[in-house]
Amino acid sequence: MTHMNSIVCDHCEAEKVGKACEHLLAKKVGGEYYPSQEHLRNFTGRGIEFILICPQCGERPDHGEPFWRTVCDSCVQDISCGKRLGDFGNPQVLTRQSGLKLVHQAVVLPTCNFRVIAAKPLAPFDAAAWIILTDTHELIEFNACKPSLHLATTISALGLSSDQPITVSVSRNGQFVAVTHTYGRDGVVFDRIKKRVAMRLLRGEYYPEHCKFSAVFFELENRQLLIHATDWNRLDISDPENGSLLTQRTPTSYLQGEVRPPHYLDYFHCGLAISPNSEWVADNGWVWHPVGIVVAWNLRRWLKENVWEAEDGESKKSLCSRSYYWDGPMCWIDNRTVAVWGLGEDDLLLIPGVRLFDVESGVEKFSFAGPIASPSTLPMNVRGKEQTVSHQLGTLAFDRWLFSWQPKGPFSVWDVNDGARLLIESDFAPLSYHPGTKTFLSQLVDGTFRLSTIHENL
Ligand SMILES: [Zn+2]
Ligand SMILES: [Zn+2]
Repeated sequence: MTHMNSIVCDHCEAEKVGKACEHLLAKKVGGEYYPSQEHLRNFTGRGIEFILICPQCGERPDHGEPFWRTVCDSCVQDISCGKRLGDFGNPQVLTRQSGLKLVHQAVVLPTCNFRVIAAKPLAPFDAAAWIILTDTHELIEFNACKPSLHLATTISALGLSSDQPITVSVSRNGQFVAVTHTYGRDGVVFDRIKKRVAMRLLRGEYYPEHCKFSAVFFELENRQLLIHATDWNRLDISDPENGSLLTQRTPTSYLQGEVRPPHYLDYFHCGLAISPNSEWVADNGWVWHPVGIVVAWNLRRWLKENVWEAEDGESKKSLCSRSYYWDGPMCWIDNRTVAVWGLGEDDLLLIPGVRLFDVESGVEKFSFAGPIASPSTLPMNVRGKEQTVSHQLGTLAFDRWLFSWQPKGPFSVWDVNDGARLLIESDFAPLSYHPGTKTFLSQLVDGTFRLSTIHENL
């Protein structure tokens, strides 16, 4: 009889293992890979353990254990490339009665005839104000305390086309708004105070459809600064006040036949997140295979000591890598801890959950199962051809607790100290969280707005 814990595939020295039923382990004679097979993922309810099982075992998942075999992790990944028919059970999720509840309050406004696509909180943070992007391609300042709407600008006035997804990012003091084609090459910075375009952003032509346009503000010594992609493998820092470039350095790309430049970086920069104290940036990008790699480096060092910090600086750490998965949900927990969605190392086997990394050491501190996010596809015109581009849905935000939600729900609240779920609401999917007023903004089906707050019944 085969011992349950010994590796039955050809890779008996493997450090990482998983499990599959023996019916999925038949290879064609002389074949290196498994044939593409229908299978199911059976969570045992013990931590995040699962077994890949064949459809026949799937008819009686509780009786299949005699057929379970231990194989190496890459064999598990290989089998998972076949068609997944579904999941049985769930990873183990810790829950705790916390007395938390959501309290909603309607915002009374004259009727508005648009849908909000995105909302970003605006400073000063003592007022519940947002800048919202509408489906009528306008940027509107929305004050929920003294309910009012005020047109800031339109996408066409910014000189951008409105035929593709758009991302909005706001400086900490609320003065500057970066508006970018999320999967395109163009963007602008709008100055809300001077009512003018402060900068034009361009990031080149090399596969932008697979990366969110990197453009995010941070505040260092009372200056509002912008990190923005200027090529697929290059980020720069500019001062949006006067458009000056603060990370002047030699080219980071080269053409066939040219000499590879020093500090060359083989990495597609994607969505960025800045630590609360503006000391660190985390980047959700990828490299060819493709494999997503979350990295982080120190902004003060980049700006003051080493212009190559984003390429190969001392503070730069790789936090985790996942085959075929990048630009998923990510947020900061404190000034040195970043939360990254997804447990595991392969897109087909990612388990809903969150991993916490210390950016100074690069070490994973804790992880827990539960928070949900899901992939989606977007139809897009790419270099003149209609294509679908993969795109990760879901948001993580942190303010004492970790909040997780996606456009069709659920919304959930987590304690990152022990990974316990404190609250789950299936039909709540806010547009944005405002850290100043601790409120979530939603737009209801009839167009009205709602503010929601988490209350604690002690
Ligand atoms: Zn089986
Ligand atoms: Zn193997």
